[in-house]
Amino acid sequence: MIPKTEKTRPFPQTTISFDKKLRENDLSLKAIAVEILQVNVGKLCNQACKHCHVDASPKRTEIMQRETIDACLKVLREHKIPTLDMTGGAPEMIPDFRYFVTEARKMGTNVMVRHNLTVMFEEGREDLAEFFAENEVEVVCSLPYFMQQQTDAQRGKGVFDKSVEALKKLNTVGYGKDESGLILNLVYNPVGAFLPPEQSAIEADFKRELKNRYDIVFNNLYTITNMPIARYLDWLRRSGNEKSYMQKLVNAFNPTTVDGLMCRNTLSVDWLGNLYDCDFNQMLEIPVSLEVGQTIQDFNPETFFGREIMTNSHCFGCTAGSGSSCGGTVA
Ligand code: SF4
Ligand code: SF4
Repeated sequence: MIPKTEKTRPFPQTTISFDKKLRENDLSLKAIAVEILQVNVGKLCNQACKHCHVDASPKRTEIMQRETIDACLKVLREHKIPTLDMTGGAPEMIPDFRYFVTEARKMGTNVMVRHNLTVMFEEGREDLAEFFAENEVEVVCSLPYFMQQQTDAQRGKGVFDKSVEALKKLNTVGYGKDESGLILNLVYNPVGAFLPPEQSAIEADFKRELKNRYDIVFNNLYTITNMPIARYLDWLRRSGNEKSYMQKLVNAFNPTTVDGLMCRNTLSVDWLGNLYDCDFNQMLEIPVSLEVGQTIQDFNPETFFGREIMTNSHCFGCTAGSGSSCGGTVA
């Protein structure tokens, strides 16, 4: 369903709507049970990357308060949702970050943190690697490439060197090593207006190069398609790439990705506790269907099961090629 919402940036135009494409393929997009609560704890970040779909930066002030964190913890506990996926901004920048993680872990919830690596060098966060290990947090880190030039071009000068140092610290406490059980996954997204390469091939390149160059190990590499929203959409527009990039996404529509789209089993929460089908819809201010509760306090697993997912042209970013989600390819 295409909701009507006011946006500062108009949606990218495509030659066919996403819903029509689904119908052409006898498909529909409905939610199953919530297995992952993805909580975006705010827009504050120590970086301001060019491709950031959150428009996060050190200047942003929106951060989740304790009351909303407690409401999320209540939902995780009462409905036995297996996984808490914390994202931002840099989730570690909010004052209650450690409270949120430790309380969720006490009740046996798997906790995943989307960690940008460089935040480890911010004041008061130097022991993050040890904190993650003590709490057996699954760490998911963005690293655009295994070489400095490409990484710094996307994420800012000096980011690559700090990222390498942070990965070494994570390895030192056991992350990425088979025997430790501590999971370290990396995320790759293309530096430009093209689709990511095949996940297993680039994972092998990253494993070989990071090991040979820096003696760094990790578990899996997720490839993620750049979504045509926020700062990345601005860049597509400025560089004259919007039309061709959108056509690439439409041409690469893969119907076998639809079953595995993350919006089917994930519920996204913003820093104020409002609910969305995914983090991208959150950034576009497209709430969950008006037929279900709109805030974390209103969550009810029975009414949310089978709800219609809200879509628009940006959804072609999730169904192109092998598909794209916060956990990498889906087909
Ligand atoms: S580190 Fe992540 S949240 Fe922060 S600006 Fe970069 S992409 Fe955005
Ligand atoms: S952007 Fe992707 S995850 Fe979000 S609603 Fe669209 S298809 Fe689902």
